[in-house]
Amino acid sequence: MRHNFGAGPCILPQEVYKQAAQAVLDFKDGLSILEISHRTPQFEAVVEEATELIKELMNVPAGYSVLFLQGGASMQFAMVPMNLLSTKGFAAYSDTGVWANKAIKEAKMLGKVEVVSSSKSENYNFVPKDFVIPNDADYYHFTSNNTIYGTEVFNFPKTNVPLVCDMSSDILSRTVDVSQFDLIYAGAQKNIGPAGLTVAIVKDEILGKVDRVIPSMMDYKVHIDGKSMYNTPPVFSIYVAMFNLRWLKAKGGVAEIEKDNILKANALYREIDRNKLFKGTCAVEDRSRMNVCFVMEDSSLEKEFLRLADNAGFEGLAGHRSVGGFRASMYNALSINSVHALIELMQDFEEKNK
Ligand code: PMP
Repeated sequence: MRHNFGAGPCILPQEVYKQAAQAVLDFKDGLSILEISHRTPQFEAVVEEATELIKELMNVPAGYSVLFLQGGASMQFAMVPMNLLSTKGFAAYSDTGVWANKAIKEAKMLGKVEVVSSSKSENYNFVPKDFVIPNDADYYHFTSNNTIYGTEVFNFPKTNVPLVCDMSSDILSRTVDVSQFDLIYAGAQKNIGPAGLTVAIVKDEILGKVDRVIPSMMDYKVHIDGKSMYNTPPVFSIYVAMFNLRWLKAKGGVAEIEKDNILKANALYREIDRNKLFKGTCAVEDRSRMNVCFVMEDSSLEKEFLRLADNAGFEGLAGHRSVGGFRASMYNALSINSVHALIELMQDFEEKNK
């Protein structure tokens, strides 16, 4: 058995793989999901169910639209300022890692940006907390979970300007109060479903306020009016996401999976703190539950541990090249048994290196 700790695209539930495989062979009357029109009533029902499942699982209030888009979270980095940043105004951003940085870079191509907080000088190993969001900003953008550095925002900033969040790597892993946000977006390939799909949750009333021309494919309003079918949507990704959302609902929903995610994260961090060979890389209060980053006290042992892990069936444990060491990504579908297996491996390694 492989234990998949990959950062994304990542593990999905086994039953979702089976359902996806079956749909490739026979979605309806012997036709594959890959050969049907997105305009068939059967597929329209899929989009509707997936949309409703996101609304239900995240408790999305009235006045918000759930959209299925393409282009990844990276396209949202540009789509957000295109829709929300006026030509005379400015947007406020927090710089908490590679992805936040890329979002800032795209926004700067379209207008003025003020970076109101940054943890760059500390290699992004914490989440900045004491900063001011100017009241006259067009919006404030932050990343709720920094996938590469392993930090997560547990207290969302309070502001009276529209709050925009890249939730790519922790969406559906914990309960959030959507009404605090004006725009949430996420690449699907962590807790939503397969790559190729991007989810956006938009508060309708924030749109239509900028004075720029927005190309149709980049305009949230166009996708809202088209009910996520303005053009051909990523049919297969949406279909598989629907199965994954059903799985999450059957598990008891986000509040239930959050309990599991806390147990998994606590168990692994406890071992990192206890085991003399390993140490965490981030401020303890900001430690991500989704992406656990750690290194070895003696870095010369890291290659050997990775080799051992690979031989023992562990996948995707190498840290991002900008951090080094290890990153154990523990998305919703990763079982606690995989976490216990990793802890055992760390304990065996400690025993061998006494
Ligand atoms: N934001 C975050 C927090 C991410 O983790 C990632 C990718 N892992 C991205 C944005 C970029 O997503 P995509 O590849 O879907 O463009």
